[in-house]
Amino acid sequence: MRAASENAEKTPLEERLITLIEANGPITVADYMADALGHPHDGYYASRDAIGADGDFTTAPEISQIFGELIGLWLVQTWIDMGEPARFNLIELGPGRGVLMADIVRAAALRPEFLKAAQILLVESSGRLRHEQQRRLRNISPFVDWLDALDDAPEGPALIIGNEFFDCLPIRQFEKVENGWRERLISVSDGALAFTLALTPPPPELELPAPETADKGDIYELCEDRDVLCDQIARIVKADKGRALIIDYGRVKSGVGETLQAVRDHEYWPVLASPGYADITAHVDFDALARRAIEAGAGVFGPAQQGAFLERLGLALRVQRLCAGKTPKEQADIHAAAHRLASPSQMGEIFKALCISSPDLAPPPGF
Ligand code: SAH
Repeated sequence: MRAASENAEKTPLEERLITLIEANGPITVADYMADALGHPHDGYYASRDAIGADGDFTTAPEISQIFGELIGLWLVQTWIDMGEPARFNLIELGPGRGVLMADIVRAAALRPEFLKAAQILLVESSGRLRHEQQRRLRNISPFVDWLDALDDAPEGPALIIGNEFFDCLPIRQFEKVENGWRERLISVSDGALAFTLALTPPPPELELPAPETADKGDIYELCEDRDVLCDQIARIVKADKGRALIIDYGRVKSGVGETLQAVRDHEYWPVLASPGYADITAHVDFDALARRAIEAGAGVFGPAQQGAFLERLGLALRVQRLCAGKTPKEQADIHAAAHRLASPSQMGEIFKALCISSPDLAPPPGF
């Protein structure tokens, strides 16, 4: 990990946050994360080429086309299970560079009726990435449009996909102190951003874990946007027999433990250093997500580990097909990429797939 001092010059967003905090007082970790990622001018997604080998981090669709192709087949099968609606919304949350959707569309071409019925809707907050998605998808499908938020989607049957989207939703952090929880805030110390603690306890309606279940210094993370989004997904999939597939890194059991992290140039980076220049994420609490979806009346399948999920969807066969007629070097690259996606020591175990479904549909493939 590089030290924050290596980048002593303040970023425009850092200057802005320091002024704001000095005027109005400390901000929550969620406020910081929302601005660091999403500020329209100086936020990370607005100002950097974040994703891919040349960016700060890479994602499953960027590693191998097989990822998106298998998800494309998953979506076609689900559409068949839904009774092949003549019109439906194919919604992607946080489409990055548009690679996943391009692979989905290519694989789904084996059922032209699916593509004819699909209105592709991309939920994307970054103008920069919208532009890139448009460039990649404009020759692939005429039916692509953009939404600011999932709630803006028109009514109708929907299939929703989100890869590495929930991990960018802002989280609040609470630290266990002698006599309960205190929210972790960000203030200014010696002219730089620094963590501090709220002076008063958090309100009881936040329903934090019982303090006696945690040790002094433990961190509990709360993602309120996750619950809001989960309720929206549940409402959409219940209304018209739809289904959502959420893939991300995270844990299967709720509990204490700090997972907030920043990454810059494929390396870990101090969370408060250079806001706007580094990606900031937190692990997804799949336990909480699944419970919330069930409470909202949706069916839930998984979480399944990404490796097992992809194997069950036919990863090995797809690798074999893709290798046909390729040079030994190309074949080795295809195998290496598949290994990276599915091996427990790489992305196969830490990444999970969760399906939030209309309760009226047959179980989905892969779980
Ligand atoms: N799914 C892509 C990219 C993941 S990065 C992939 O797998 O490669 C996260 C994506 O979510 C980016 O496109 C980012 O701009 C978008 N994003 C993050 N927060 C968002 C929000 N609140 N609303 C809409 N899009 C958001």
